[in-house]
Amino acid sequence: MVSSSDNDLGYIRDNINEVRENIAGALNSAGLPEGSVRLMAVTKTVDPVRINYALAQGIDLIGENKVQEFLGKKDLLHLDGVEKHLIGHLQENKVKKILGQVDMIESVDSVAIAKALADRAVSENITAEVLLEVNIGEEEAKTGFLPERFGEELAEIAEFKGIHVRGLMSVPPICETEGEIRGYFNKMHKLFVDIGSKKRDNVSMEILSLGMSGDYVYAVAEGSNLVRVGSKIFGQRRY
Ligand SMILES: *Cc1c(COP(=O)(O)O)cnc(C)c1O
Repeated sequence: MVSSSDNDLGYIRDNINEVRENIAGALNSAGLPEGSVRLMAVTKTVDPVRINYALAQGIDLIGENKVQEFLGKKDLLHLDGVEKHLIGHLQENKVKKILGQVDMIESVDSVAIAKALADRAVSENITAEVLLEVNIGEEEAKTGFLPERFGEELAEIAEFKGIHVRGLMSVPPICETEGEIRGYFNKMHKLFVDIGSKKRDNVSMEILSLGMSGDYVYAVAEGSNLVRVGSKIFGQRRY
């Protein structure tokens, strides 16, 4: 194995501690229970040595964007007891490759991909655990469910065998102000609560995945219970 001294990678430990403190502070300010937010380390473009170092600091949830990249490095990772989520757009032709390799797919962004996952899961005798990605800013360039059609599409997905919707995920538009970004997070939280109040087969609203390096503190304040942090842990990504 490549050896890296603690010294080289100590910044990762410091960053993780800082993020954890900030999450605890945000929960405390909002009057929310300690420990009620999960921290995901987003490991895209990060090499296995650095990922393993983060795992050794107690990180128990990682997120990857690309099927190919994850499958290429996963055998080098110390993943005992670690949950793996896919957080990037999934193409139908990769469904077969990724199902069963991750614990959850957070980026289910259309009825069609939900159907493809559900069908494949049925044929493998498993259940696909997913979050539905909402395009909360209704941006043209982004995939995801649009808020106004969401109820209808969710009802359709709830009928599929082989899939279990565990919550919602979103990446809001880039915002100039705290008020603006909190507005999007708040809209997501409302949708989450609203859907959660309706009983549907195969749907349980447990996870609200919101917040990245630049805004996770605001996301926690607005009710996120899973934050996805990459560069604030590993430093700026080099592609
Ligand atoms: C890259 C990525 C993140 C992490 O981004 P940072 O700003 O580096 O924290 C979170 N969520 C998704 C969907 C991503 O693609």
